[in-house]
Amino acid sequence: MMSGYKTIQRESVLHILSKNADKAFTVKEIAEAIKSEASITWNPSESTIYRIMSGLVQSGTVLKKVNNNREYQYVFLNNNDPHITVRCKICGKIQHIDEKVCQEIIEELKNNSCIQTDGNIEVTGICDKCR
Ligand SMILES: [Zn+2]
Repeated sequence: MMSGYKTIQRESVLHILSKNADKAFTVKEIAEAIKSEASITWNPSESTIYRIMSGLVQSGTVLKKVNNNREYQYVFLNNNDPHITVRCKICGKIQHIDEKVCQEIIEELKNNSCIQTDGNIEVTGICDKCR
């Protein structure tokens, strides 16, 4: 079944990312990691991984970053880690930010506010497509 096959692909990607949750992967690195993983028989194409990653970013399962070579990198998002969600108020598209500035905001709230954040902060805005 198509849907079952897609689930297996997505789970292979999540397996690689969650096993190395402290590491950011490019699509190419994810493809290589899947190929070298003996328990995974799926031979991924980069375009398939791109598609899977965009779904995982949308659902908030992974963080998308840009590295120094201007390549996208993906990191498994542990929901216990503090992070900021930026959400487009028109189309609902979400992106996560895990830069140091988030930590500073969280610390600031912790120290100087009567309302403490649980580390899950949401910012709304309007994305490129909706602008
Ligand atoms: Zn939008």
